[in-house]
Amino acid sequence: MPGPIVLRDRESLRAWRGAQRAAGLSVALVPTMGALHEGHLSLIAKALSEADVVIASIYVNPTQFDRPDDLAAYPRDPEGDLALLARAGCHALFEPPTLYGPHHATWVEVPTLSATLCGAHRPGHFRGVATIVTKLLALAAPDVAIFGEKDFQQIQIIRRLAADLDLPTRIIGAPTIREADGLAMSSRNRRLSPDARAQAASIHAGLGAARRAFADGERRSAVLLGLVREAIEGAGGTVEYAELVEPETLSPLETEALPTGVIAVAAWFGGVRLIDNLRVGEG
Ligand code: AMP
Repeated sequence: MPGPIVLRDRESLRAWRGAQRAAGLSVALVPTMGALHEGHLSLIAKALSEADVVIASIYVNPTQFDRPDDLAAYPRDPEGDLALLARAGCHALFEPPTLYGPHHATWVEVPTLSATLCGAHRPGHFRGVATIVTKLLALAAPDVAIFGEKDFQQIQIIRRLAADLDLPTRIIGAPTIREADGLAMSSRNRRLSPDARAQAASIHAGLGAARRAFADGERRSAVLLGLVREAIEGAGGTVEYAELVEPETLSPLETEALPTGVIAVAAWFGGVRLIDNLRVGEG
């Protein structure tokens, strides 16, 4: 299978997009930060089922990193990425050196959904995410854009901003792809030592224990979240946050009568920060 056509600047992206429009082809965009894995490829597969042509983007967006050392250590694998995109049947790749001009001064923010969970621990992170996604949607003008539910708060923020700003792109979520032991695939998993990698499976184990308890009738969020914390801390990880939230508003859920919710967690293993989430209840 031939590899994707690689577009390195706005002008070539716009020209490519214009050609698809002229040919009457619908376009799906899959934004990523590279170091691609099967989770990203599942988004490409979903994109192929939703549109005629698929464009992925790879851009390690500096404005969404709250710590310079994290940005510097973010894994990069341009050659491996191209090979995976070719295998997945992706038609085009947008990989610009930068997307911020020297006078950049405009930001997109969704404060209500950004104050909690990851946003409470990573100042400015979702402002960076919301801004770069808005820029990518403006540049690629896709009919649909695919995002992973692994980054649950992120996709809810993107859905909100697309609705609030009347963006014409349809935002579609895709389920989390996991390793055999349940660990959510992530570019950051490459940075785990073998020990930390083994311990990190406790995130999904803890979420699974909470889901089973919920299915058995447990509704006290402190008990459910205690199961998550116990699993992670028992394995040697450090919990940054574990919360049970209402899926749309991301507000904490305490009620005993709730039918459904999302447990979201961030935890550290050997200096690597991982996130995951699991829906509990119906839906
Ligand atoms: P990233 O490159 O980590 O910024 O992720 C790019 C896109 O891939 C985002 O929409 C993520 O939610 C999605 N993604 C990351 N990991 C997974 C996974 N394990 N399963 C499904 N989608 C994922």
